[in-house]
Amino acid sequence: MIIVLSGKPSSGKGTQSNYIIEEFNAIHVSLGNIRKENNNNPEFEIKYGKYISKGSLFPDEIAMEMLYGKLNKILSKDVNIVLDGYPRTIIQAKGLDKYLSLKGYKIDIVINLEVSDEKIIERSINRRICSNPNCKAIYNLKNNLPKIEGICDLCGSTLIKRDDDTLELIQKRLEIYDKETKPILDYYEKGKILFNVDGEKNLNETKKDIKEELERKERSKKE
Ligand SMILES: [Zn+2]
Repeated sequence: MIIVLSGKPSSGKGTQSNYIIEEFNAIHVSLGNIRKENNNNPEFEIKYGKYISKGSLFPDEIAMEMLYGKLNKILSKDVNIVLDGYPRTIIQAKGLDKYLSLKGYKIDIVINLEVSDEKIIERSINRRICSNPNCKAIYNLKNNLPKIEGICDLCGSTLIKRDDDTLELIQKRLEIYDKETKPILDYYEKGKILFNVDGEKNLNETKKDIKEELERKERSKKE
């Protein structure tokens, strides 16, 4: 199965993609991940380094090239793939369909985590992350407190606020999402593969909704 996981920034994509990876034995694909995998790859650095140093949003053609490079290595009828936060523009979405169809594949489902802007802002403002770069556990002052205030449960490092979790930058991220990413939902709706899931429920309920839908997809694929 090829699964696209979509949603606003801070809608919980990371958590849900981890869940799908475990539950459905899927390979995680995101631009951030591809970047990490190529940390010590000089060829990759020469090709994409200049974009990476400018921030995390790649121009469409660069994003597409990086993604296809990865998919070329892993596409197989036997594997489940989660595209986490990709595509993020309509150009990327159409490009991906074209790329996949040339290879004899198609996206099976687009899971869209629905979360209101108010909720996104609340989550981001209250988010604290572990300062240990090898841990990066995420906490929330409202609903996911560490056992000891300001200390990571997993590794004991101090918790910090992300530099970009300010109201101004969150609102800017949401504006960019509305302009650039939201149109892909209509596109996938028309393609009849969009599955909207309530991302404001508690985590386990959202997981359950996703699991049920993916199991349904799996069954219908086998038939
Ligand atoms: Zn930690």
